[in-house]
Amino acid sequence: MVAIKTRAGGETLIEQSALDEYRSGLGGETLTPEDAAYEEVREIWNAMIDSRPALVARCRDADDVVHSVNFARANDLLVSVRGAGHNIAGNSLTDGGLLIDLSQMTAVDVDEATKTARVEPGATLGQVDAATQAFGLATPTGINSTTGIAGLTLGGGFGWLSRSYGLTIDNLLSADVVTAGGDLVTTSESNHPELFWGIRGGGGNFGIVTSFHYQLHEVGPELLSGLIVHDAGDALAVLEFYREFAAQAPDELTIWVVMRKAPPLPFLDEAVHGTDVVVLALLYNGDMADGEEVIAPLRALGNPVGEHIGPNPYVGWQQAFDPLLTPGARNYWKSHNFGDLSDETIAVLLRYAGDLPSDFSEIFIAQVGGATSRVSGDATAYVGRDAAFVLNVHTRWEEAADDDRCVAWAREFFDATLPEAIDGAYVNFMTAEESGRVEAAYGANYERLVAVKGEYDPNNMFRLNQNIVPSGQQ
Ligand SMILES: Cc1cc2nc3c(=O)[nH]c(=O)nc-3n(C[C@H](O)[C@H](O)[C@H](O)COP(=O)(O)OP(=O)(O)OC[C@H]3O[C@@H](n4cnc5c(N)ncnc54)[C@H](O)[C@@H]3O)c2cc1C
Repeated sequence: MVAIKTRAGGETLIEQSALDEYRSGLGGETLTPEDAAYEEVREIWNAMIDSRPALVARCRDADDVVHSVNFARANDLLVSVRGAGHNIAGNSLTDGGLLIDLSQMTAVDVDEATKTARVEPGATLGQVDAATQAFGLATPTGINSTTGIAGLTLGGGFGWLSRSYGLTIDNLLSADVVTAGGDLVTTSESNHPELFWGIRGGGGNFGIVTSFHYQLHEVGPELLSGLIVHDAGDALAVLEFYREFAAQAPDELTIWVVMRKAPPLPFLDEAVHGTDVVVLALLYNGDMADGEEVIAPLRALGNPVGEHIGPNPYVGWQQAFDPLLTPGARNYWKSHNFGDLSDETIAVLLRYAGDLPSDFSEIFIAQVGGATSRVSGDATAYVGRDAAFVLNVHTRWEEAADDDRCVAWAREFFDATLPEAIDGAYVNFMTAEESGRVEAAYGANYERLVAVKGEYDPNNMFRLNQNIVPSGQQ
């Protein structure tokens, strides 16, 4: 017998016979807190999250997912869905409910002829990149290779190739989804089109995706990429130059700004390590010589304290930030979209970058635009097509005793940048406490999302996410 939380907030006792029947129909295993592998499954990227599911279903395939959704529905269980477990909000875990764990479903099948790939939902970006680059192909994803492809795609997905080829969802051709009713459907522009619209930005609200089908592009295998590091004392000049340069940059070029304390990178003088720096991280997705010419003015700017730019394997560059983003630290994020970097925004950035709450905290400015902005705002559920930059206040520390101070700093910084931010927000960068921001985050697309939710998950089985509440539910 096992006690599991219900969707409505109570608890239900599942009889041993019912549990045995469920287990016998599952290809994968189930775990309870007594099992050795339990602790490993509930470890996710953000160490702030310490939830303990009552039961874990380790799915092996779509049949296991259907079986688990039917079991959850029959018993009205509170359900969470885990891909690679990277999301800052920690909604992939439930405290006391059923965790449907997809992390063992990691197959990536590339079709070289059609330049497409079918990807299971537990795959990480690193696994996707490795499999696709074996054929010289890639699809746009994110900048940290241990991130999960499922959560990233369902929220939108952007990284080094997005200005060239759009968001990850703009390269999604179809997906297999298990709905709350336990049906396995293939959704695309022509099949269940409203569901397809919804899963492209609407997160895990409408069902569990068991397979993603992506368009791939010829990429690399080596691309011009690297870092230019400036002392924080030059940050004003660097940011003022950056906003002009980024505004006229070709789609092939993507430049992200990172403001933080300098990590001990081998190309930096030891005296620079630990000092406040502003880093321009860039990739040129095109001919190497063209890229050299395009970025020449950026390299000529001021007096960098270090530079490391050259041809890098795309797969390697996709892992460049991994050492700074390892799992297991305490993290708290806040994010806004910006149409440009105004003088006021830059002034706030400089003020807070000079007062980081920990040695590992970072201010990330992701450059988007390019192909991401040439898709209309209502073509997919994702909003933010008009964002040129996505700011992520990325607070990171190690001791629980520092929680309040670090969280307060991030919130204050977020509030200070609010006046210059544009509407909409990236749901994949939102924390668990931001459920009140979901409607505003989706803006004009929200009502349509509520309608899709009503059709595919009217009882809100999939509620542990940035939740779109169906009409008539709370
Ligand atoms: C260090 C770091 C770097 C990042 N960098 C980027 C970046 O460069 N670009 C970018 O766009 N994003 C980035 N992100 C955000 C990232 O896209 C989200 O955290 C994303 O949710 C991670 O996906 P996951 O599968 O690992 O998440 P999980 O935590 O496993 O899942 C997140 C949520 O997605 C839903 N979900 C997961 N799998 C499924 C499924 N198969 N079916 C239905 N619902 C599902 C569930 O609601 C779940 O709660 C980054 C995150 C981190 C922590």
